[in-house]
Amino acid sequence: MTHESAPPRAALPEATPPTPPALSRNLSDALSAAAEDRIFYDLDGIEERYTALRRELPQVDVRFAVKACPVDGVLTRLAERGAGFDAASPQEIAQALRAGAPVGSVHYGNTVKSDRNIASAHLLGVRDFATDSVADTAAIAQHAPGARVFCRLATSGRGALWGLSRKYGCSSRDAPGVLAAARASGLVPAGLSVHVGSQQMTAGAWQEAFDTLAGTLAALNRRGIHPDHVNLGGGLPALGYLDRHGRPLHPPLDRILAVIREGTARLGRVSARPLRFVMEPGRHLVADHGAIRAHVARLTTRQQPGGERENWLYLSCGKFNGLYEMDELQYRLVFPTHRPDAPRVQAVVAGPTCDGDDAYGRGHGLVPVPRALASGDPVWVLSAGAYATSYLTRGFNGFPPLGSSCVRREAAVCALN
Ligand SMILES: *Cc1c(COP(=O)(O)O)cnc(C)c1O
Repeated sequence: MTHESAPPRAALPEATPPTPPALSRNLSDALSAAAEDRIFYDLDGIEERYTALRRELPQVDVRFAVKACPVDGVLTRLAERGAGFDAASPQEIAQALRAGAPVGSVHYGNTVKSDRNIASAHLLGVRDFATDSVADTAAIAQHAPGARVFCRLATSGRGALWGLSRKYGCSSRDAPGVLAAARASGLVPAGLSVHVGSQQMTAGAWQEAFDTLAGTLAALNRRGIHPDHVNLGGGLPALGYLDRHGRPLHPPLDRILAVIREGTARLGRVSARPLRFVMEPGRHLVADHGAIRAHVARLTTRQQPGGERENWLYLSCGKFNGLYEMDELQYRLVFPTHRPDAPRVQAVVAGPTCDGDDAYGRGHGLVPVPRALASGDPVWVLSAGAYATSYLTRGFNGFPPLGSSCVRREAAVCALN
């Protein structure tokens, strides 16, 4: 709404498609069978990623960030495997509990909450609350007396596709004051937390976060405050994304995990008391295991006022119907009814709504798409499992929100709406 998309470069006659992505059997079967637009989640794939993370970081408890995929089937599968949940509202807390998570493994991770939100969470039995200000701790003391609070430290967000820097977290200088105020009001100053920014692409950002945590822990210990846990937040990357120019992102996951192993050991040495570690991955667990079945509205060629001819591929799904993150990414598209070596043209990809922002815009490369695409042809959007359902609009221009289904082995499909 705020700005027009930048004019894309002139269309080229033909181009090479990106490397075909690995697609699980569960997802390809479901996508092939779908006759209507829908988003599918591969429960086995999500579970495998969860298990792999537990194996890589056995010292860290995993609490899935509900907002990355608030789909009952996904939460239930994770809860069955022992995951806890990071919830950001009483509604998310209730959903996590319905999925079968014990209330002790659910925390209120949002520093932004009204008095009423706090009271509702308290009534639901939640004991752990994130905070980053004295005003918020005072409200927690009043509406959830005796609760355990963990103080979120601000990070720069540098290196992340979606930095979360200014809205959340206090400086490491302020944190001891916030936790001291919590203690004075009868709360338990239980921990510290960080979030390095979503889809964090550098191990260095994690290193910085551990430096901040270590310094703050030492300062707290000097004031006689001895937290019992550290929450490392989200930020672990999806592995299947393309950047705005269509190149694979290749996040350095192994190096990131090595920094986390080393960092947790270091914090253990700094702390005056044994520490537990918690992590709140969202995107990392679900992004690559969700895919959208959409369809082609139209492939057109139009002359722009500047004289250049451009190809535009309009899809049935766009920014307001599952592909909200198109400002930072190129979604990985598969055209299953066209051969991979079919002649291609370079196109701008856009959604169906009457909104100029509903398109790959400023700073994006063009996307090679089959020249012969026809209206109604299916399109698969891969690595689209994170945040898609949270970002669905009610029906922008009347295009209905995508329904979702969970798929698992044995060809069982549970439709959710
Ligand atoms: C969104 C969020 C997460 C999950 O972030 P990802 O980058 O998807 O892993 C974790 N913790 C908090 C507090 C969040 O707000």
